[in-house]
Amino acid sequence: MAADDAAHEDDTGREDDSSPEDGSGHADGSGHADDAGHPARRAPGCGSVEELDGAVTHCRACPRLVEWRERVALTRRAAFRGEEYWGRPVPGFGPPDAALAVVGLAPAAHGGNRTGRMFTGDPSGDFLIAALYEAGLASQPTSVHAGDGLRLHGVRLSAPVHCAPPDNKPTPLERDTCRPWLARELELLRPTLRTVVVLGGFGWQALLPVLATAGWRLPRPRPRFGHGVRFTAYHPEDGRELAVLGCYHPSQRNTSTRRVTAPMLVEVLSHAARLAGLDEGRA
Ligand code: SF4
Repeated sequence: MAADDAAHEDDTGREDDSSPEDGSGHADGSGHADDAGHPARRAPGCGSVEELDGAVTHCRACPRLVEWRERVALTRRAAFRGEEYWGRPVPGFGPPDAALAVVGLAPAAHGGNRTGRMFTGDPSGDFLIAALYEAGLASQPTSVHAGDGLRLHGVRLSAPVHCAPPDNKPTPLERDTCRPWLARELELLRPTLRTVVVLGGFGWQALLPVLATAGWRLPRPRPRFGHGVRFTAYHPEDGRELAVLGCYHPSQRNTSTRRVTAPMLVEVLSHAARLAGLDEGRA
């Protein structure tokens, strides 16, 4: 089961105010915020998406997640026993000048944690990439391994938690500790970013503080998660607007119960692509 399968459990968008919005994270129990490689110190200094992608793969700020991702990489699932697992934080995937970001929750233990690429090698990834392809946003309908030639057209996949969590569920502390990575990624994407699709209520809860940390002004009261919910954030520095859309997560549970279907996902992604201007020139 993908880590993001946990996302559907809170698709109500229930508030969880256990985290601050200042991006400071926590120093207790999740590494030390004064370590040079800690996200709170390392991420803000990254000057490009490429630098950020490299830096995140060295992060060891969350002891529980480091232990888990490395243990899974050693023990492996029987079907993948002959494969070398990535076993490290999984960076975002897609062009550094993307107009659309798709944000889940965390990599899957035998998906991204195995292949080293977001939404690659697990059923959620299969479902999402097929929908992106259908919407004209991916070069191929499958995402099998990091060298399979997949290219995304104007789309970047990322997550508020970059390591696969046990029981498919990061703790609030781990989510908050990881926040600076995605906050910086969104800052670096800001010149081109126009739309974000958030997959699932957990991702929604995690993303709103990330946007605030990245300087976006959000509506108050905070919009609650729902499939098809949309709001607009505003950045005071340059007046840019960012459309944020909610979408049920394509977890195995959600797809098998048809809570979210391929046409539903394609519809949201196509809508997001139009809002991002990615359909221009394709008509
Ligand atoms: S979850 Fe994020 S902050 Fe924690 S170890 Fe992984 S990359 Fe670092």
